[in-house]
Amino acid sequence: MVTNETIRSAPKVLLHDHLDGGLRPASVIELAHETGYTGLPTEDAEDLGRWFRSGADRGSLELYLDGFTHTVGVMQTPESIARVASECAQDLAADGIVYAEVRYAPELSTQGGLSLEEVMEAWLSGFEDGMREAERAGTPIVIRAIVTAMRQFARSVEIAELSVRFRDQGVVGFDIAGPEEGFPPSRHLDAFQLIQRENFHITIHAGEAFGLPSIWEALQWCGAERLGHGVRIVDDITVTPEGDIKLGRLAQYVRDNRVPLEMCPTSNVHTGAVASIEEHPIDLLRRLRYRVTVNTDNRLMSGVSLSDEFASLVEAFDVGLDEMQWLSTNAMKSSFLAFDERLRLINGVIKPGYERLEADLQSRSPRLV
Ligand SMILES: [Zn+2]
Repeated sequence: MVTNETIRSAPKVLLHDHLDGGLRPASVIELAHETGYTGLPTEDAEDLGRWFRSGADRGSLELYLDGFTHTVGVMQTPESIARVASECAQDLAADGIVYAEVRYAPELSTQGGLSLEEVMEAWLSGFEDGMREAERAGTPIVIRAIVTAMRQFARSVEIAELSVRFRDQGVVGFDIAGPEEGFPPSRHLDAFQLIQRENFHITIHAGEAFGLPSIWEALQWCGAERLGHGVRIVDDITVTPEGDIKLGRLAQYVRDNRVPLEMCPTSNVHTGAVASIEEHPIDLLRRLRYRVTVNTDNRLMSGVSLSDEFASLVEAFDVGLDEMQWLSTNAMKSSFLAFDERLRLINGVIKPGYERLEADLQSRSPRLV
């Protein structure tokens, strides 16, 4: 069995993580003081961490989204946004993540009068700072931004334009997030078509709180290159009592086209998309060799790190080091980073990292006489 220490030191890749879902509880409290935000339920960091977790674990995406009022509430100044972004990069690096794409909806940080551009500049400068600090700590990370538009609002075209404008400063793609039911991806078709005309990248939250129609629209109308969650694709897969597997047209398309699934097991349990980790379709989908990736979604709300997510998979499905390497390589291949940079990380960091861990395991395992 792969130990927690091995999981933490293994080079990992994260494609689906929300900036406003990963703050340190202590920073939320400090930032609330600095920015005059008075809505926090408690001033004790441990209590606050617990409050976020229990608030998230209520079996509904709408309820899950409640906690964001407070994190977004303290992210209304350039200094606080930059600090949150820097700490995010450092925390991910300390968890053994070598490449991450972290998303945020800049429109959420304009309540205090900041422009969208000011939000972007603060966010990206925070990432630069976090990468420098991580390098200094001996845990280098490359971190990039995905700009999200909120699906229940009507600013997606403006936000899509914004993402393209900052593509040379660290933005690698565009996404929509928020309540899925009642807000289908095709509502934002203009925004997605703008991104496509600009030869830029699209991932869409789809197939989390709503089923196959949302996935189908994301892929076939809106040009999604990846699916945020995509967990409901299993609704198009039939497993007979004899164990035979039949894929529907959409499930077949997703597998044949190697559409990356940004799966977030713990978050899916908390929002009620899946009953438990043991019953999570990630096991079936990885065995069917879908392009599965493992992600955290919201580290603060779900109380997880990427290492924790892998530890759950090791425990539930006996995932080994070779499978961890496959999942991490899947994620790196599916990233929106330029192809040559992806290759550099796969061949220069991920492969040698796993080779070292494998050699370590071999040298420590008892010899057969
Ligand atoms: Zn998400």
